Amino acid sequence: MTKKLVLIGYGGMGTRHLQRLEHVSEIEVVGVFDIDPNKLVQAKQDGYRVYTSYMAVLEDSAVDILLIATPNDSHKLLSIDAMKAGKHVICEKPVTLSTKDFQEILDVASAYHRCFMVDQNRRWDENYQMVKKVVDDSSLGKVYEIRNIVDGSRGIPQDWRREKQPGGGMVYDWCVHLLDRILILKQNAKLTSVYGHLSFILHHEVDDGFQVILTFDDETRVVLEVGTANFIKLPEWYVAGTTGTMEIEDFELHGKYVTLNGELARDTVPVEAGAGFTKTMAPRTDNSISEHELPKIQTDVCDFYRNFVNWIDGKEEPLVKNTEVMWTLKVIDMIFESAKTNQVINLNN
Ligand code: NAD
Repeated sequence: MTKKLVLIGYGGMGTRHLQRLEHVSEIEVVGVFDIDPNKLVQAKQDGYRVYTSYMAVLEDSAVDILLIATPNDSHKLLSIDAMKAGKHVICEKPVTLSTKDFQEILDVASAYHRCFMVDQNRRWDENYQMVKKVVDDSSLGKVYEIRNIVDGSRGIPQDWRREKQPGGGMVYDWCVHLLDRILILKQNAKLTSVYGHLSFILHHEVDDGFQVILTFDDETRVVLEVGTANFIKLPEWYVAGTTGTMEIEDFELHGKYVTLNGELARDTVPVEAGAGFTKTMAPRTDNSISEHELPKIQTDVCDFYRNFVNWIDGKEEPLVKNTEVMWTLKVIDMIFESAKTNQVINLNN
């Protein structure tokens, strides 16, 4: 049966959810609540039924699901109150600002037998799924390095993301996505070390960028980066394997991958390079490599919501598992600790 959903937080992400939910026949949006009265006026003008208090939403027995899309520090209490009132909850990322808070949510979900799922929607990004396919298929040989870099030049948006208390900063905004995906991609390998560096280039209260380096026991190295003062973007994905390399430049999916079909090395002619010459870096001039188009991948992020309904109905397991979200939060803690101490966190012990 169709589930009835109320959106909490009629802001940037909340309104995107409403657009997507128009394509999900399993869910009917029955209303909106926002703490800001101006947002309620806007929601009403946009044709939504509005609730004037959170309590009114909780007391509405017709409502099955709350979708919480409010600033990060408010997720915990809103989620707990919702589940205690008998609602299932979809919550935005980062689910909470500490593992302890997330555990409290999970304890309530378990005590009240409610489904609780976090919106790790970027697992449905097509460029990530392309990388996953090429890595899983071993198209590049043994992948030894993955770089996922997201660059912008506008600083942190002028909202709560600039402030510490509501959970601002780019680690909470972007790293939770990048990390979540990589930990899924590398779920068969053990994480062996974590290094984090945070930048405070244009903003000082919270990090406006980061570089994270992860190593795994299968000798893969992963670099995750976000910059908000980068006027020339680096490629979003660069994946290096022993017999091939892949590059995806952007969300528009420009890119290619190149694989070796001849010998790794044969006698090369040295080339002039800058003020010197090089054999090692001489470009390939033979036909020992092939260039390929990126694999064709089509994703539908609406499958996230459909899966949630099917989970409630006992028909499917959740696609975003709370154990995965908890592991991501633990690694986020390690990133902050590493950045604070300028030390690599070693997980080998
Ligand atoms: P926003 O500031 O645009 O919107 C937040 C809305 O929540 C505002 O309208 C605000 O008035 C309302 N609000 C604040 N406290 C509230 C409360 N206690 N009860 C009800 N309403 C309340 O922020 P945003 O960019 O939409 O971000 C919201 C959440 O979505 C954050 O957790 C953010 O990390 C997440 N987000 C996720 C993605 C994604 O791709 N998954 C993208 C952007 C934002």
